[in-house]
Parts: sequence; C-alpha cells; structure tokens
Amino acid sequence: MAKIAINIATGSLQQDEIIVGIDLGTTNSLVAIIHPETKRPVALKEHNSSSLVPSVIHFEKGGGITVGEAARQYLVSDPANTIFSAKRLMGKNYQDIKDKADHVAYKIIDSEDKLVKVQVGNTFYSPVDLSSLILKELKKSAEHILKTPVSKAVITVPAYFNDSQRQATRDAGKLACLDVLRIINEPTAASLAYGFGLQKGENKTIAVYDLGGGTFDISLLHIADGVFEVLSTNGDTYLGGDDVDSAITEHWMKQYGFDALPDSPGYRQRLRLTAEEAKKQLSLAGDFAADFEGRSLTLDRDQFNAIITPIIERTLNCCSQAIRDAGIGKSSIDEVIMVGGSTRIPQVKKRVGDFFGKAVNDSVNPDEVVALGAAIQADILAGNTKDMLLLDITPLSLGLETMGGLMDVLLPRNSKIPTRASRQYTTYKDGQGGMKIAVYQGERDMVKDNRRLAEFNLTGIPGMPAGLPKVEVSFLINADGILVVNAKELRSGIEQSVEVKPQYGLTDEDVEKMLLDSMEHAREDMDTRALTEAKTEAEQLLQTTEKFIQKNFSMLTEKEVAETSLAMQALQLSLSMDDKNLVQAKTEELNTLSRPYAERIMDEAIGKAMAGKKI
Ligand code: ADP
Ligand code: MG
Repeated sequence: MAKIAINIATGSLQQDEIIVGIDLGTTNSLVAIIHPETKRPVALKEHNSSSLVPSVIHFEKGGGITVGEAARQYLVSDPANTIFSAKRLMGKNYQDIKDKADHVAYKIIDSEDKLVKVQVGNTFYSPVDLSSLILKELKKSAEHILKTPVSKAVITVPAYFNDSQRQATRDAGKLACLDVLRIINEPTAASLAYGFGLQKGENKTIAVYDLGGGTFDISLLHIADGVFEVLSTNGDTYLGGDDVDSAITEHWMKQYGFDALPDSPGYRQRLRLTAEEAKKQLSLAGDFAADFEGRSLTLDRDQFNAIITPIIERTLNCCSQAIRDAGIGKSSIDEVIMVGGSTRIPQVKKRVGDFFGKAVNDSVNPDEVVALGAAIQADILAGNTKDMLLLDITPLSLGLETMGGLMDVLLPRNSKIPTRASRQYTTYKDGQGGMKIAVYQGERDMVKDNRRLAEFNLTGIPGMPAGLPKVEVSFLINADGILVVNAKELRSGIEQSVEVKPQYGLTDEDVEKMLLDSMEHAREDMDTRALTEAKTEAEQLLQTTEKFIQKNFSMLTEKEVAETSLAMQALQLSLSMDDKNLVQAKTEELNTLSRPYAERIMDEAIGKAMAGKKI
C-alpha cells in the first residue's frame, strides 16, 4: 500500500503517490498500475467496460470535447470534427504526411513552425494538444477508478520515435498535468511485461512483433543484465488492423457487386465496422454472417485467410529487414512476443511463428501488454522493485572541456548503455607536463553552461614538443550507469582515472531544463563556438609563426619580418574584439603573407637535405 509521510517543515500530509504506466496508442490507449496487494501489473478499467480507451477525440460545435468510446461513434456521424490517429502526426511536418492528409476526413494543415496542426472549426490543435486531451481523459478516468489523485506517469512510445517526437510526448503529458517520469520504448515495456530483463545475469534476444490498428512495428532487442538494447527496428506506419478491415470491405463490395456505395460517408463507415466485427469473430471461431442493409454478408475462414495473407506478408518483409539490420541470424532470437490487438488473428500467429521458426509467445494480453510493462517500469522508478536498474540510454551528452572552454562531446545523449567512447588529445605547449581533464554533462556548446561532473590532472607527461604527446581519454559507462573516465598518454604509458555517477543529484526536471536551455540557446551557442574556434586557430597560428621566425630569422628579408610582425600585431589586436569575421580575416591575412616565404624556406631545407642523395 502507499506509504504516508508527514512533511515536518510544512506540516502538510504527503502521500507516496502512485505512478501509472500509460500506453498512448495510435488506435487505443490505456493505463496500468501495479496492484497494491497482488503486486502484479493490472490494466485499469471502469466497471463493465474495456480497459482500452479509443484514441479518438470529438469536438462538439458548442465547444465540448469527448474522448474515447463516446467519441468513436462520431467517426461516422461527424467525421470532420472527429480526430483519430493523432499519434501519427507527432513531431511531423507537412511534407512528411502530405500524401496521407487526404485519407482522413479532418483537416490537417501546415503551420508557421513547420509542424502540422489539425483544424477544427476556427481552432488549431497541435498533435501535442491532441495527445494531451487523450492523456487528460486517461488521468481523469484513472483517478475515478483509483479514487486518488494521479500525477506521475511513465509513457511509452515506439522505439523509432526520434528525440523531438519523444519530447512532444513529454510535453503532451505536461499539458495534461502529468509529471512524465520517463518515456520508454513500447517493445521494452512489452518485454518487461513478459518478465524479460528483470533477472540478473539474464542474456536474451527478443523479437517484438507489434501489429496494432494502424501501425506495424518489429523491434529486435538484446537484454543483458537489465539493460535493454534496441538492435534494430522496422515497420510501416500505415499498416495494421485498419487495413484488414478495408480489405474485408473491398472483398464484400466485389462479391456483392456494390459497384458504388451510396454517397453517404456513414454507409461505408458502417460497412467497415461490420468488417471489424467479422474479423474479431473469425479470430475466435467459426465463420461470420450478418445482415447488412437488407443483404446477408458472410465471410468464412478460408476467405479471411486469403484476404489477410498479403498484409501478413508485408509485415514479414519488415521482419526480414530488421533481422538483416541487426546483423543477427534468426536462430539467435530466443523469444518472439506478440503485441497489439491484430496479433489475435490466428493466421498472423501461425505465419509469424513459421517465419521465425519457433512458436510465438502470446501469453500476455496483446492489447494490454505495453501498458502493463510501463506499470512495471513505474514501480521500478518508485523504488518498489529493488535491485533493478533500468537504464537504457544516457539522458544527456557527456564530454570534455577543450581549448577555449568548448564542450567536446564523447558520448552523445541517448547513447545506449553500457557503452564506451574514446578520443585522442594533445598538448598545446612545448614541454607541457600535465593536462587537465574536465568532464562535463549537458547539451550546450560552452562547458560553463553545462554541469561539471569531475576534474583531474593527468601529470607526469614527459617533456615533448607541443602536439607530440598522445593522450587518449576514454569514457566507459557500465550497466549500473557509472561513468569511468580514463586518461592515458600513449607514448609514455602514464594513466589516471576517475569514477562518476552522471545521474547523481539530477532529476528528470533538471534533464528537461537542460535540454530546453540548449534549444533556446542553440543560435547563440553556435556563434560562440564559431568565435572560440576562430580565436583558438588564430592563437595557434600566432605561436607557430613566432617560432618559425625565431628559427629562420637569417633566411628572411627585413621586409618580410617587418610585414609579418605587423600582421601578427593586427591579429593579436583582433583577438580582443569579439568579432569572428575580423579574427578570421586577420588570420587569413597573416597566412597569405607568410605562406610564400614559409614554402620557400621549406623548399630550401628539402633541397639541402636531398643534396648529394640519389633517388
Ligand atoms: P494501437 O497499438 O495501434 O493503438 P491496438 O494494439 O489497440 O492498437 O490494436 C487495435 C487493432 O486491433 C484494431 O485494428 C482492432 O480491430 C484489432 N483487434 C482487436 N481485437 C481483435 C481481435 N480479436 N481480432 C482481430 N483484430 C483485433
Ligand atoms: Mg500499441
């Protein structure tokens, strides 16, 4: 049961709040929790109804909004104001979806910020707004069922969702007044619901076959010691149960010679609903027969199997591609799990089993499995499942400070863990005996805007000219999320390392704030980086030119020396003015001036070295 604690400072009553798992699906969405008594995940449902909430929103003329089952009926009677499959629009711009925009009865438009919007009457809704309306409904219904406030959630997204689509999902949660503790991949959640990844020392490769209402996803995951690694994903965002319904509808239209359907949108929609009914019934047993507008419609199992074969074959092509991309053989896949309502179709299970060469695992309800897994992840975050650390990616970039205070990223954010990366650095001064290794976390270009994790000095580098030592810095993040930073000078072998916990003291909000900051300052950061790089280059040129003149003074004319020192002074002066173009122009001037005599002296030196030698 939930723990209750009194906050002494404020005297307020704090309840250890429940964290829910949410599957925000294209067709259906639902909420699950870990049952306080049985400790097993369960999907929430109102009395006498399904746990599935159709991801459909209806906007009434008067301004009222209905979501879920109640909105679904308006797909027939008020299609222009009834939005479905909004998830497909998440993070998309008009170019991405313009071919598909005609296939829905509601209005999808291009907007100023390039992301699509949906127009209902005179109001424009972003996909984030639409998803937030679904999340609000889920939150409300969960609160009603649980009789307690719900404000924390884990939400699932397809494995192929990019950063901006994940961020959009987080934003939708925020708009619905949900604190989104984590976004996790749908196939990862499904694996968790099957209990995979929960045991120490477990090592498995899993295929997650997810055929939903409008989308098909195949993901290959490798699980080792609680770390989920997505090996590959493939699929089709326009392939699913809806296509089965259309195929049955087409079949009936041909069979019964409905050349053209009566010109009513409702008519075709009703026929589709009958087709869906037929599909569901045939998944259970027997054949299908029903009366439709005075005709008798029938569909037997053989006809049904023939109709869906091309659809199944398209999914199997995606599976082949995913296996190829993962670079593994079919035989190294240990489990094939079935996710999504459409995997209830027996022919789907059979063909998928044949394809992978093993019986599929479908023991968990395919409509609920993703939400159930999200609830397990929520429980882990709440600290109720001990010994389990579900880290699959780094939330922020990790890197080193380089010349001019710039951030040099070694491990970009969202790197899969465990992971490692290394890079070589060198000294910039002759005889430099030490090198500062400063480790930072964050997305900004200048380290001063990021979070410092650790700093140490690699000392004892033997005296060498600048640029000669080779210091290799490597970052290793193990499965527990601990970062080990090692620095080694390769010529002498001296090395040193530190261990840090990048996540320590960092809440999800902090992470989010850092990401938002980086977007907000992207332009500014780019300018600062360009200026810093220009200055660093200028400083290096000044140093080498200085050295060159000292060494080759006797081979230069008086005019050359005078001109060069003037150009050097001008470059030096430009460094104090924060103008990248000026620094670059003065660098170029010095380069142009010194290049001819530098080349001449090089040629002379080579000439001397070659004298008397035969080639
Ligand atoms: P999504 O993940 O895209 O939101 P779901 O996993 O909820 O979708 O799957 C919805 C699809 O599953 C719908 O096309 C629905 O018709 C189909 N479906 C549900 N139950 C069955 C069944 N018993 N037999 C065949 N298809 C089914
Ligand atoms: Mg789904």
